[in-house]
Amino acid sequence: MHDLAIKDGLCYINGEFIRANIGIDGHKISYVGKEEIKGELEIKADKNLVLPGLFNAHTHLAMTLFRGFAEDMPLMDWLKTKIWRAERLLNAKDVYWGSMLGILEMLRTGTTCFSDLYIHMDEVAKACIESGIRAVLCYGMADRGDSERAKEELEIGEDFIKRWNDGRIKAIFGPHAPYTCSLEFLKMVKDRADELKVGIHIHVSETKDEVEEFKQKFGLPPIEKLDEIGFLGPKTVMAHAIWINDKEMEILAKKGVSVVHNPISNMKLASGIARVTDMVESGINVCLGTDGAASNNTYNLFEEIKLTSLLQKVRTGKADALHARDVVEMATRNGYKAYGLDGGELKKGRLADIILLKKSFNYTPLYNPLYSIVYSSFGCEVSHTIVDGKILMEEGELLTLNEEKILEKVEKIKEKFTQL
Ligand SMILES: [Zn+2]
Repeated sequence: MHDLAIKDGLCYINGEFIRANIGIDGHKISYVGKEEIKGELEIKADKNLVLPGLFNAHTHLAMTLFRGFAEDMPLMDWLKTKIWRAERLLNAKDVYWGSMLGILEMLRTGTTCFSDLYIHMDEVAKACIESGIRAVLCYGMADRGDSERAKEELEIGEDFIKRWNDGRIKAIFGPHAPYTCSLEFLKMVKDRADELKVGIHIHVSETKDEVEEFKQKFGLPPIEKLDEIGFLGPKTVMAHAIWINDKEMEILAKKGVSVVHNPISNMKLASGIARVTDMVESGINVCLGTDGAASNNTYNLFEEIKLTSLLQKVRTGKADALHARDVVEMATRNGYKAYGLDGGELKKGRLADIILLKKSFNYTPLYNPLYSIVYSSFGCEVSHTIVDGKILMEEGELLTLNEEKILEKVEKIKEKFTQL
């Protein structure tokens, strides 16, 4: 008798859909196979699709508060006249409700784990604890060349790690980017991360201008310089990496750095198109993210799955660039792997983060479910979301969140930003 049994699903196993039963005990998958199983709780999958949960590997979750707040503006104008001004008005409670809204959206669209870099991170952690979702969290640090501030920022980042590294929450360091953090500070962060044996989440080479400025200042592009100071390693996760040269790509592969590709944010902010196919060929672990909701505007990872595939076809001029299976791996297993978590696969011993998808009109006719998932999903096909062995959404009903209250609170918070 298992704690939970998912019966007769069309399960995504080793790149194929196979009819199987899944047993879950505690936090983990304890059985995958064709034998009849029983559970204290049972979900009749009834030949619907069963997938490992999606991993959104780069978010600024509470930025749900700013979705639709400022649109169609050049990046620097958008940041300086709108986003940064609004962020200065953010308090801890706002971040809590903004995060709750982000989690609500992720659970509804099949994301079981996310990696967040922002401020007031205790509130994000609280929202995770209450909702039951899994997360990798870090406080977004920036010293802007001030050595006093560097010490303070590192301390805030480290305190957060010591408070929250437990159970479903993994806390790591989050230096914002090489253009907001000095090289001395980044070195300090890396040394401390090694001592505490934790990872690092950072933005690198998102815009062409930022890379040009960096090269003028330091004589090398960001990734080459980061390598020179010993910053890169298998526990480094880099968001974007759009404007990188061949040598930098080689460095990332050699050092085992994971890259988070954020196609919608990159398109919306006109940042550019990352060389994802080249990265995959070099052996780099590429995963997917939405970035913040202000530049996306949703946390629906199915949109990233489709656009990752389409963008690479456009970039390379090859319709067979990136196969559906590659992109599904990026959205599931690769995300878990990037952050050292044992999930993202329907396999005995893995974390029990699982989603069920209903066959619906947009999945009809169903030839190969993999193609339907990559090219036809809206996100609302998700009927069940299971995290850490617990059912958080059942038949479309969120069991741990009060949806009405969250929407109401966020509409109320919005009022103070409309003055800007
Ligand atoms: Zn970002």
